Formats: sequence, structure tokens, C-alpha cells
Amino acid sequence: MSSSTIEPTVETTAVRPDYEVIIVGAGFGGIAAAIELREAGIHDFVMLEKHDGIGGTWYINTYPGIAVDIPAVFYSLSKMPFTSSSRFFPPGHEIQQYIERVVDAYGLRKKIRLNTTIESARWDERNYLWRGTLASGEEITARYVIGALGLLEVAKLPDIPGIDTFAGHKVHTARWDHDYDYTGKRIAIIGTGATALQLIPEMAKVASHLTVFQRTPIWLAPKPDFRIDWGLDRVLSGVKPVRAAVRGAIASGIDMGLIGALLSLRRMPKAMPYVTRAGGAMYKLWLRDEELAEKLTPTYAPGCKRPSMSNEYFKTFKQKDRVSLITDAIEEITEKGVRTADGVEHEIDVLVCATGFRVCERGFAPAFHVYGETGEELGDYWHEHRYHAYQGVSVPQWPNLFMVGCGPNSIIPSSILVTIENTAAHARRAIVETRRRGATKVDVNRQAYDDWAKFCTDRTEGSMWVSTPCAGSNTYYVNYQGELAIRPTTGLNQWWGNRHFPVRHYTFSTRPALINARTREPELATT
Ligand code: NAP
Repeated sequence: MSSSTIEPTVETTAVRPDYEVIIVGAGFGGIAAAIELREAGIHDFVMLEKHDGIGGTWYINTYPGIAVDIPAVFYSLSKMPFTSSSRFFPPGHEIQQYIERVVDAYGLRKKIRLNTTIESARWDERNYLWRGTLASGEEITARYVIGALGLLEVAKLPDIPGIDTFAGHKVHTARWDHDYDYTGKRIAIIGTGATALQLIPEMAKVASHLTVFQRTPIWLAPKPDFRIDWGLDRVLSGVKPVRAAVRGAIASGIDMGLIGALLSLRRMPKAMPYVTRAGGAMYKLWLRDEELAEKLTPTYAPGCKRPSMSNEYFKTFKQKDRVSLITDAIEEITEKGVRTADGVEHEIDVLVCATGFRVCERGFAPAFHVYGETGEELGDYWHEHRYHAYQGVSVPQWPNLFMVGCGPNSIIPSSILVTIENTAAHARRAIVETRRRGATKVDVNRQAYDDWAKFCTDRTEGSMWVSTPCAGSNTYYVNYQGELAIRPTTGLNQWWGNRHFPVRHYTFSTRPALINARTREPELATT
């Protein structure tokens, strides 16, 4: 070979990525993924967090009354007990403190880059790595990307005409404005989901008048909440067998309910209307007010959409001189307030949108653009081919990419931390297996993906969530394509499926030139 000949480098150039793994998000999902990596001996990773603090949901949701409606003993990572919880159902700031403690306990703080938004990631097929572009314009590369973006991350303002014309103070619950003084104001809240029912009693305490606009009522149960910081917290979180037994009992209880929900329409086709009627009777007894009971009782069956718990919500509406419950449809938002279908304009000073999040919606899932092997963007692909991910985690032709706690068909209606830990374990297993084989690319097989998608679709059809008992529930458990956004299995199945999936469901491959790559600079293989 003549020394003046320039050899093509396309197939022989080896680039060592900046990191082995980029974790996108430093909420519970990112933290659980980082713990899995650490335990697997993988330390070359970075966590990118767009906010100026860690904690995800619990960092950004700080509205008055925020708490979790799942007991601390279950709403905590299996690897680290939730000590110092003052109540059985802890308030939001205590969960945030727990998250901070977990991050310190696992030495993750130095791995986190705050105020760092990833805008896109593009698969580099030549080098088997991901090239991420940050909002700053910086490029960052990694062999693997774990998207731990949160399923309820993109706040949704209501698509009501005139929303931008409102001249008063407007706020979404996921972006609470703590600088504003709400005292003595005429406050309106749109929405009656799990967030609103925590917020409404708190706003009623400070508002001169509170108006709640309800489109769809919610099923709720009394909240058996009480202080546990007299010693019960130490038993629940400090005595391992007690903690394991309580967690096991809650998980099994939820699984029993899920089995019932999954089977109810096929095995007990006539049962759900009775369940709905029984719920209605319970509401009547609880409320002891015919008019309120009629307005607040859902017509859809319990379990169609996420239920919640509260001891204060119903009581709040009994203060009829100070709190109005409006069930007429909203027609428009005006400069002064909210106009409903009956022609009334409800004048207000503050408009609170407790209107939830965008779940499995085009342009918002995933929350950044991810261009796979063919150059196609994942959100576009899902829009064209339906929202699915193998075990809620991976998609063929988007190799080396794993979604933790945010993929389609990943969550079960339980503590989100169950899903997060199971899907993080899936990502760990796939990455560890790739490394064990000396491979640098891992891609879920089309057949495994299609089989899983078919399983989810088959379970959707005929399930209660897409049948008459759930009509009118507006549940985000079903996405705009009519597919279940949740995982139609029990928690036990989710645990097993993510930890024991057959590795033959993935294809592992290697760029020979990359195996011995040593530097972070482009490296020419000798010919
Ligand atoms: P959500 O459950 O989606 O509820 C949004 C509410 O806004 C619904 O009542 C919805 O009515 C209403 N809405 C939306 N757009 C509207 C419009 N254009 N006009 C009128 N009403 C409109 O949201 P969320 O309450 O924020 O809860 C989201 C999730 O966060 C929950 O499901 C739960 O998973 C989680 N969360 C958990 C806890 C906890 O303690 N663990 C607490 C809060 C939230 P429709 O029902 O008719 O759509």
C-alpha cells in the first residue's frame, strides 16, 4: 500500500462514547436505574436532569395538600426503606427528602447534571452508540440510553377556547406558583382527578370562594391516614420481616384486584354494573346529600380510571356557601372567568388547571426526539404503528435504548415504584448480558416485540377499560389510539417478565473494531 493512499475509514473508525450509559431523568426512575447499574458494577454513567433539582414528580409537584395516596412502606424503593415518614401516607416534601437520602446513600449526586435538557438522541449505526444533543448545543455520546422520563411528566393545559385570554392568575398544579398570594381570592379549579382532590380542600381554606369544574367524577375511598412517627415508622421501615410482609400484602391485594379487573368482563360480564351501583350507595351514605351524591358519583365502574383516597374532599363541597361544584360543561374561558354551557360566566381571580398530563400522546412521548436505526423518530413510529414497547421497555430498531417507568404498557395500577424497579431491572439485565457477550449493540427482536404488542392488544379487547362499564370515564389508561397505556398484567407477572425475559428475545452484535477501543477520541484501526 502506498503511503499516500487515503484509506476509507467508514467501517474501521472506532469511537469510544463519552459514557457507557446516559440516564435521562433524576426522578425515581433515573435513580432506580442508576442503583441497578451501580450494583451491576457499571459506574461509567451520567444522569441528565432538566430541572434544577432532583426528584422528578416530587420536585416539580408542590401544590398545597400534595401527598401520596399509597403508604410509605410501599411507596419506597425495595432496596431502601422510607424512614422518617410522619404519616402512613406521607406528604410530598417528605417523599422529596426520602429521594435526597437515597441519592446520597448510593453516592449518585456526583453523577447528576442538573439544568441539562436532552433535546434529541440519534443512533449512530457506524459506531453502535447514541449521540445526544443537549439544549445547550453540546453533543454527548453513550453506548446506552435509559429514558427515565416519567409517565406523568408533560403538564396538560385544557384545550378550552379562550384559555389564553384569561386576565387573572393562571396556574397548572405541576407548576405551582408559590410567590402568588391566593388568600381571599375567587379561585376556580378545573379537574377532579387525584391531584385536584388533594388540592381542593386546601384551596377552600384560603379562597373567598372556590368553584370546582368537574367533567368526570372520581371514585374515592376514605383515607386511613394517621401519624406513624410515634414508633410505628421504625417498625414498618426498620423491621425487615414486617416491612416485607406489609409490602407483600399490599402487592398481593392489588394483584387480586387486577386479576378481577382483567377477568371481569370475560368471566363476570354482569358484575360491573352491580359494583358501580354498590359504589354509588356507598357515596350516598358517605355524603348524606342527594344533590351532591348525584353530582359526585361516577357512572363508570370503579377501576376504569385511577381512583384515590380522601377524608376531606367530600366535606369540602358541603360548605355550599363557599364552595360551588359545577358540572355544566365549560364552553370557554373569558377574560374574567369561565363560561359554562348554561350561559353563566363564573367570574374568578385565579384559574387552577388540575388537568393532568399528556400520556402516550404524539409529540410528547417520548419527551425528546429519539431517532433510531432507520432514522425514524420514535414518537412518529408509535403514532404510525401504535404505542408499544417490549415489556414496556424496548423497541426494535431503537437499539441500546431502554425506558424505565415511562414506556407504553409498562405501568400497572399500583405504586409506580414497582414498575420503575421492574423495568430498571430489565434494562440492567439487557446491558449486563450485552457486556458479558462482549457485544456493543442489543436490539429487541421484532417477533418478541410483536408478540408482546399482540398480547397487550388482545388483553385490551374485551377488557373492562374499553367496554361499556368504562364508557365516559376519559381514562388515560387507554390512549388516543384505543390501546391500553398500562400493562394488562399483574405485578407478579411484571416482576417476572422484566427479570426473567428470555435473552433470545434480544439480538446482540458487535463492531469488531470497537472491542479494544481505549481512548475517547476517534481511533483508526490498523489495516
Ligand atoms: P388526571 O387524573 O388526568 O385528572 C385531570 C382532571 O382534569 C380530570 O378530572 C379531567 O377530566 C380534567 N380535565 C382535563 N382536561 C379538561 C378539560 N378540557 N375540561 C374539563 N376538565 C378537564 O390528572 P391528575 O389529577 O393530575 O392526576 C394524574 C395522575 O397523577 C394520577 O392519575 C396519579 O397517577 C398521579 N397522582 C398521584 C397521586 C398520589 O397520591 N399518588 C396524587 C396526585 C396525582 P376528565 O376526567 O373528564 O378527563
